[in-house]
Amino acid sequence: MKSTLTQPASEDNMNARGESLEGRRGRLGGSFEAVPTVLPLARTNAEARLFLQLQPCSGCGKSKCVFRSAVVTVGDDLGSRYTGVCPQCGVERIYEFRIPAEVLQPQVNSVQFGADDPSQLLDPGVWLWYSDICAQKVPESPAGLGEAERRACRHALATALAAVEETLKFIPVSATAVPASAFISLDGRTAYRREPGRFSRARLEAVRGHYAEQLTAW
Ligand SMILES: [Zn+2]
Repeated sequence: MKSTLTQPASEDNMNARGESLEGRRGRLGGSFEAVPTVLPLARTNAEARLFLQLQPCSGCGKSKCVFRSAVVTVGDDLGSRYTGVCPQCGVERIYEFRIPAEVLQPQVNSVQFGADDPSQLLDPGVWLWYSDICAQKVPESPAGLGEAERRACRHALATALAAVEETLKFIPVSATAVPASAFISLDGRTAYRREPGRFSRARLEAVRGHYAEQLTAW
């Protein structure tokens, strides 16, 4: 995935949903052993990686960074810790997440960000925004493309599809649209205010169906 994404205002996101250790470390004067044990849940490595990709560095505001992950224990739970050094300003970046009790096995040829529960890291507005970005990378037809390009397009489409599915997970069973209260980040709320109609179950299911159909052509 290219890191040319426009950055959503994810600090807002972070404040609303579990903070990064960068933030906590600043306040706790350098010790991150003393962090609270309630960490945000990252359902899969893919979800954690996407979340990290959207976070700005506390030093320079750029998001580009290579993170390494390790499994850690947090209280009685298992967690994952992602660490990296910002290539622009040298700040050390550290994020920790809880890991679900049951780890979702990666599927071949499909993208999965989580099981049935909605994301705790990214809100539905950000998911649909990200889905759009992935889908826009894919040309109308695979004609004339080499195998590597086709594979990249298939992955982008499968990611777009998975991100729409993530948006749908925020709709309660008895509802026909994502409730306004689900949009907790600045970017998510902006996306919702701009086109609230896109978050109806019918519209989202139509988009999901379209991407699934398109995938068969690739
Ligand atoms: Zn930086």
